[in-house]
Amino acid sequence: MQGFSTRSIHAGQEPDPTTGAVTTSIHTSSTYAQDGVGGTRGGYEYSRSANPTRTALQECLAALEGGRHARAFGSGMGATDTLLRILLRPGDHMVIPHDAYGGTFRLVDKVLTGWGVEHTPVDLADLDALRAAIRPTTKVVWSETPTNPLLGIADIAGIAAITREVGARLVVDNTFASPYLQTPLALGADVVVHSTTKYIGGHSDVVGGVLVTDDDELAETVTFTQNSTGSVPGPFDAWLTLRGAKTLAVRMERHCDNAERVAELLDAHPAVSRVLYPGLPEHPGHEVAAKQMRRFGGMVSFLATGGREAALQVCASTRLFTLAESLGGVESLIEHPGQMTHASTTGSMLEVPESLVRLSVGIEDADDLLDDLRTALDAAR
Ligand SMILES: *Cc1c(COP(=O)(O)O)cnc(C)c1O
Repeated sequence: MQGFSTRSIHAGQEPDPTTGAVTTSIHTSSTYAQDGVGGTRGGYEYSRSANPTRTALQECLAALEGGRHARAFGSGMGATDTLLRILLRPGDHMVIPHDAYGGTFRLVDKVLTGWGVEHTPVDLADLDALRAAIRPTTKVVWSETPTNPLLGIADIAGIAAITREVGARLVVDNTFASPYLQTPLALGADVVVHSTTKYIGGHSDVVGGVLVTDDDELAETVTFTQNSTGSVPGPFDAWLTLRGAKTLAVRMERHCDNAERVAELLDAHPAVSRVLYPGLPEHPGHEVAAKQMRRFGGMVSFLATGGREAALQVCASTRLFTLAESLGGVESLIEHPGQMTHASTTGSMLEVPESLVRLSVGIEDADDLLDDLRTALDAAR
């Protein structure tokens, strides 16, 4: 197999056969001429069903995850919803991480329960807790690693073994790691989900999602269901995402370099009571992360010594770290999960600490990022 960067630049991206254009074209056409009824050229008939720019993106993302099939969506949640509607029926049960992405929890807890799907939040760092939560009706084990926003680590191979034993499917939301750092299919996952809005797009300028799987039959069902429900990305969005994917490896290396420096600074600062970063040796998931990830990623969370007020003050006083939701872009972001991304978990088992601050460490110069954080933390003491 070719190296990761070679695949990200070339997979699905041959020069155009008629013009020689080196970059993939943005195919805006909604419909395609047929050579006689049913005589499509390459299977394209209508852009909800298939679009050449989207096909290029899908081939690239499948190659990056080392999977046979990828299907691109209009958002990460569109991908998640389509997949769960395929894998679950009324009366079925799923396991969801106790600190799942807030939007995933909302979909499961507020939407799918209305269709009779049951769920149990579980700390997936604890394989015994997973075993205990499995029911005869469990069809899906949903996993995120690292988790958002607590940076918990789950042992993908360990969870895959249990999931296979009980005949359920393991889905891994690989958004935080990106395929550069971790490839769950190789560890036994059945499906990988990404919000491509984050590291894969990488520039905070496009929303999208993807499902990747080796299962031919499931991929066919995804194609059918997506065409039936319509949660497709437009060609401009597919193109922007593909453009972002080309530089994923170099961006991730820099995100990791900078995040390691940030974690070190936070670890030594009195305004911080605890740093949540799997790259730190004292992180409970450090060894598992070291085994299944290339490096430890660009996301760092921490608890402010001064509690909620101090956390809010840090969020309000950084200058380079922009106060905003989302993550994975070239620019550094800071947020307060309790009142922003994870507000929907308040009062539930998934509620996050009020002193929690989450950083998406960008690829600016590390020294500037450290100066910015140090100034904000000094003021919060
Ligand atoms: C953002 C995010 C999603 C949802 O993706 P959208 O593109 O916003 O719909 C799912 N999982 C994780 C871990 C995310 O960060």
